[in-house]
Amino acid sequence: MSAETLATFPMGGVHPREAKELTEKLAVEVMPAPSEVRLFLKQHVGAPCEPVVNKKDKVTEGDLVASTEKLGAPLHAPVSGTVKGIQNALHPMVGNAPSLVIATDPEAEPRTYSPSDWTRLSKDELLAKIKEAGIVGMGGAGFPAGVKLSVRPDVKLDTLILNGAECEPYLTSDHRLMVEHAKEVVEGAKIILKVLGINYCAIGVENNKPEAIAKLRDAIAQDTGKNGYNVVVKPLKVKYPQGSADQIMQSVTGRARPSGVRSSAIGIIVQNVYTTKAIYDAVVLGKPLYERIVTFTGKGLKKPANLMVRVGTSISDVVDYLGGTTPDLAKVVVGGPMMGFSVSTLDIPITKTTSGVLFLAKDEIDTTPYYPCIRCGFCVGVCPMGLEPNNVSVYVEAGRGEDTEQFGVDDCFECGSCAYVCPAKRPLVQFMRLAKASIAAKKRK
Ligand code: SF4
Repeated sequence: MSAETLATFPMGGVHPREAKELTEKLAVEVMPAPSEVRLFLKQHVGAPCEPVVNKKDKVTEGDLVASTEKLGAPLHAPVSGTVKGIQNALHPMVGNAPSLVIATDPEAEPRTYSPSDWTRLSKDELLAKIKEAGIVGMGGAGFPAGVKLSVRPDVKLDTLILNGAECEPYLTSDHRLMVEHAKEVVEGAKIILKVLGINYCAIGVENNKPEAIAKLRDAIAQDTGKNGYNVVVKPLKVKYPQGSADQIMQSVTGRARPSGVRSSAIGIIVQNVYTTKAIYDAVVLGKPLYERIVTFTGKGLKKPANLMVRVGTSISDVVDYLGGTTPDLAKVVVGGPMMGFSVSTLDIPITKTTSGVLFLAKDEIDTTPYYPCIRCGFCVGVCPMGLEPNNVSVYVEAGRGEDTEQFGVDDCFECGSCAYVCPAKRPLVQFMRLAKASIAAKKRK
């Protein structure tokens, strides 16, 4: 690792190579519906859905196809066509998982949606529409938005933060969303403010996205229906990590969340900008979440792009659409390079939380094997939560998961900074994941 890298990176410094230039200026292109889609019944945190359709049923784009009474979010048909049944598909994080397969009707017309006036709806009616549309957090683990916004009446909130940081290198889907749908993001912010019963929203955007900042500010200035809501844009320093809920809360408000409590305990709800646009679609257009913008990039792909794709589209279909891969392709990662998961096949469907797929060439990856810890302490210095990734066994022995006094391993949000700076190339995020699983298993005993 060079001295320059170490000088800029520790304690959330600037990432040395953002690598967003391949796609940040590319307008979103709509990919035609593939011949079939595979919808994981469990797309995110929470319970898996149960299908409400049967094999050979005809479905129309946007129809409800699976739901759950437990913590979760319903699924809707991304295409019009015929249900083929339940088949296993490879999930990048959990391995083989059941998915509902729908064969596309190539003759079907795309479904259209018309806007309606949301301001007449009550808070409960808005919340019901958000829940029915199957919206989950689109920037991370995918927590169901309807549940997150159902805040108990005794919780005192004052600030909504929209997370437009998109600090992971390579990814530009949120960036393009803010540039191309700034008005919907601002309108979606007001919908969330009404649901939460507060009037202040700050949209945090890193300074390396000046076009997004300008478009959002224009949308706010031209908004003739402010109705007492105060939505502002907060340009943020470019650093990694900036986009986790804890980091952006501190950057925007200066407040830090103590370990073991939710952000609402310090008066804040954080929502991703894309989730906010999905809430606009659900409430104003009546459109469920079944398609999203995904960044497909890296020097291993012939034609990098920001594509609007149906949830359930196979990555291999996208690769065919984009003209294939280059001979230099060495690694495929679902998600960003810091927090994503590398995969061994392209036969993997896009989910509601897939923000990017990277096709990395040989000169974009590091294949050095990892070595024993040399106790340099770089990982301790860089961790934004003040954790000691090199001492993970101590956490496990002490059973320190989420802790109200000090931060424990459950506070690790897997930003990957520790692994990135480690000169011995140790897979510290994987060690933290193992520690989380081990402490959780201990607690269950
Ligand atoms: S321990 Fe977790 S939060 Fe800390 S640097 Fe490593 S991945 Fe990031």
